[in-house]
Amino acid sequence: MNDILIIGGGVIGVSTAYFLARKGVSVTLIEKGDVAAGSSYGNAGLVCPCHSVPLPAPGMLTQGIKWLFDPESPFYVKPRLDADLLAWLWRFRSFSNRQAFDRAVPLLRDLQRASLDLYQTIIERENLACYFEKSGGLMLYRTAAGFEHGQKETAVLQKHGLQMKVLTGDETRQMEPLVRPDVVGGIHYEEDAHLTPDLFVKGLAAAAQAQGANLLTQTELLDLAREGDRITAVTTTRGTFRPEQVVLAAGVWSSLLARQLGLKLPLQPAKGYSVTVKRPSLSPQTHLHLGEAKVVVTPMGPHLRFAGTLELAGYDLSINQRRVQAILRAADDYLTGMEEKEIVEIWRGLRPCSPDGLPYIGRSITYSNLIIAAGHAMLGLSLGPITGQLAAALVAGERPSLDLAAFDVERFG
Ligand SMILES: Cc1cc2nc3c(=O)[nH]c(=O)nc-3n(C[C@H](O)[C@H](O)[C@H](O)COP(=O)(O)OP(=O)(O)OC[C@H]3O[C@@H](n4cnc5c(N)ncnc54)[C@H](O)[C@@H]3O)c2cc1C
Repeated sequence: MNDILIIGGGVIGVSTAYFLARKGVSVTLIEKGDVAAGSSYGNAGLVCPCHSVPLPAPGMLTQGIKWLFDPESPFYVKPRLDADLLAWLWRFRSFSNRQAFDRAVPLLRDLQRASLDLYQTIIERENLACYFEKSGGLMLYRTAAGFEHGQKETAVLQKHGLQMKVLTGDETRQMEPLVRPDVVGGIHYEEDAHLTPDLFVKGLAAAAQAQGANLLTQTELLDLAREGDRITAVTTTRGTFRPEQVVLAAGVWSSLLARQLGLKLPLQPAKGYSVTVKRPSLSPQTHLHLGEAKVVVTPMGPHLRFAGTLELAGYDLSINQRRVQAILRAADDYLTGMEEKEIVEIWRGLRPCSPDGLPYIGRSITYSNLIIAAGHAMLGLSLGPITGQLAAALVAGERPSLDLAAFDVERFG
């Protein structure tokens, strides 16, 4: 008998397993591939309170429509007749306004700050080697229009108490000498940090195991049996479990698994790419956002990672080389000394995006022994530890440290 079964070995599932194991709870995690096989593997590695913005920001859809026919654009919706996508876009549209944005920012900010604190505690306590650096981040703009837009967004985020500073072009270059002379300005994201995501998740998984968690990789969930208001059995490729409670933390696939239970958990997969290169001799010292290009450049020990694009193209994991090349080229537009790139790995992953830009964290009303922790879009790494801690508190019947009403897992019916 396994008391708690977690589905999914990404940053959310592994963090939940870690906090449960620390409470002395008997917990098993199943993962269809390896730990950190999904979106948690090759992402940009940012832990970023200053980026506490939901995906459906004002003007986002208009911009998306402008980019629709550009094969190298950073945001793309693959046109197709898909009822789930159309319903999702319809809801997304209703949240793409200032009021919804202003409601979401403080909710995300509080999660992010709590998560950053937990990162620092866990990395120190477990001695995790993951190149964690709390050195802030730097947003760069090449165009006056981009810089103006960035300053407006910064003013809104500063009102919500986030520590960000607008810099002139020269101040930006003083902070990061590799910035090209034609960069017109920047924003210093003072609260932010970065790390190598798969090293963190794998290190945390080992720490969870050392504290008693049972981690079963290459074990895929096949079927969920239910009776009344309870999940009674979980059939996997390696046997059937009859857990007391189930935590669904399967990233974007959570939506498909929830459907098996008759639950609506709207999520669209948003594909992004990263290209990891050997760290060049001239390399940025902290992570950079290339504003107009929507690319992030993150130093990760011996490597430098370029990440970007957001493609709503379903669960398709194919690699579009034009977009990959566009990510690499963008770096040369903003930085000097980046010409030589010795590629170590090209990767893509699917961000789990909810229509309102908020994650699903909570106990199901329909199934009394189901907890869902999924849908963190482009902030899932950042929000991993706090989500794990909150999910573990729910499992243990404790009062969560933050109000979870806005993250209600059945808010879309
Ligand atoms: C290019 C890119 C850059 C990003 N940059 C950042 C960043 O800088 N900062 C940030 O905070 N976030 C970033 N993100 C987002 C972040 O990667 C995700 O939000 C986060 O990894 C989601 O974690 P998760 O645990 O929910 O999902 P995942 O990591 O996808 O884990 C879910 C796991 O569930 C498993 N699974 C699925 N179905 C089953 C099944 N039937 N049985 C068993 N196991 C199953 C999968 O194999 C997978 O390992 C980025 C994403 C991308 C694509």
